[in-house]
Amino acid sequence: MAESPYWNPRHETMPRDELDALQLRKLKRLVEWTEAQVPYQSKKLHDAGVTADSITALDDLRRIPFLTREEWMQGQIDNPPYGPILAAPREIAIRYHMTSGTTGRTPIRVLDSMKDWEWIAEMWCYGFWGFGIRPQDTVFFAFSYGTFVGFWGAHYACEKIGCLVLPGGNMTTEGRVKQIVDMGATVVCSTPTYALRMAQEAQALGIDLATGPVERLILSGEPAGSIPATKQLIEEQWGAKAGDTAGMTELGTIMIFECSHQPGGTHIIEDHFIEEVIDPLTSEPVDYGERGERVVTSFGRGFIPVLRYRTRDLVVKVPGNTCNCGRTFDIYDGGIRGRVDDMKLVRGTNVYPRAVEAIVRERREIDEFQIRLYTAEGIRDEIEVLIEVPDKAVDTESLTGELGRALAGAHEGLRFNVRIAEDNSLPRFELKAKRLVDDREVIGGKGERRSS
Ligand SMILES: [Zn+2]
Repeated sequence: MAESPYWNPRHETMPRDELDALQLRKLKRLVEWTEAQVPYQSKKLHDAGVTADSITALDDLRRIPFLTREEWMQGQIDNPPYGPILAAPREIAIRYHMTSGTTGRTPIRVLDSMKDWEWIAEMWCYGFWGFGIRPQDTVFFAFSYGTFVGFWGAHYACEKIGCLVLPGGNMTTEGRVKQIVDMGATVVCSTPTYALRMAQEAQALGIDLATGPVERLILSGEPAGSIPATKQLIEEQWGAKAGDTAGMTELGTIMIFECSHQPGGTHIIEDHFIEEVIDPLTSEPVDYGERGERVVTSFGRGFIPVLRYRTRDLVVKVPGNTCNCGRTFDIYDGGIRGRVDDMKLVRGTNVYPRAVEAIVRERREIDEFQIRLYTAEGIRDEIEVLIEVPDKAVDTESLTGELGRALAGAHEGLRFNVRIAEDNSLPRFELKAKRLVDDREVIGGKGERRSS
């Protein structure tokens, strides 16, 4: 049998009209099931005048009310521990997960059934297979296997494909790097930040990863997997191809993946999700090529119906044929481009951490960095970028000057103070790097108070 480049050849190459029809059928079933199983959501649908019977075109999706994270969390507080969103009795659950938890915030808590796990792994299979991973691969997971769902589903996907899986939980970075080389791992899964950290560790150990066995990295957990400079750096240091994916705890799995053609973005798994892109302020849909917030509707989650969930992720959708792999699934150009809430207003200029990273990562001399916002003289917002430059032969004066000019040039002339930080003084991350620190007394200068 000739091997297909697609995990699900029929669906991944389905003409748009058939894909629309498939989504419509699934949407109707999802609404029907939600009405029957979840009184809380059923009431919301009823109040909005939505019934399964009234869904006759994909546009009817827009009549369904949004589900927000705040609403989900409030539901958990009012109705602990899961909130009123479960569509099945707790006894059917086989696994508990929660969001990785920004300090001080209530985590989202989810349950999964056996059926969910089958689907969760299936979604990751689209991504792994589509990036060229096959049964003969040995896959190392640089992941801590806790209550954060992370790569759990990917682990099962690899077993489903038939790969040899190396679960690298509870190990030091040194231990992981050594095991990857010793066991001849051909695929490594981690966050983009941690892929760089392992590469630094390998260098310190005198191990040349570029000539090692690893051929592919699957990145997830941070938007950086699609930042060109970060991705290029990872690919150079590992001598391997890096593919971006993104998922979320609310869904338990990924909804987008980069194919082996590496189109500079990620295909949306459109036979299992409807991904809308809207203006975060007006909630109106935006066109192809325009930046907006992604809103997800999921057909596969068995324990929790996810209907029009406001993700706060910023994306730019482009048509599937922008990539020449033959998939009809639309693409998020540049993957997840950050979060609606990530944007910082500094002296009237919008600053996105992702845009800063894209510029900082162009300079190979920089090992780690941090963006810090603070209030100067009690009134003025200042932004500084702290960088670690381990190579003492580097002319740091011209480096900080050049970087400051490049950052200002990309931000309407906003002044960035670039400073050298002591080696290993900045935090290192295994999961979801948090490189922006906001120490301002009043954020945004318009009375917007710091919330965390
Ligand atoms: Zn493609």
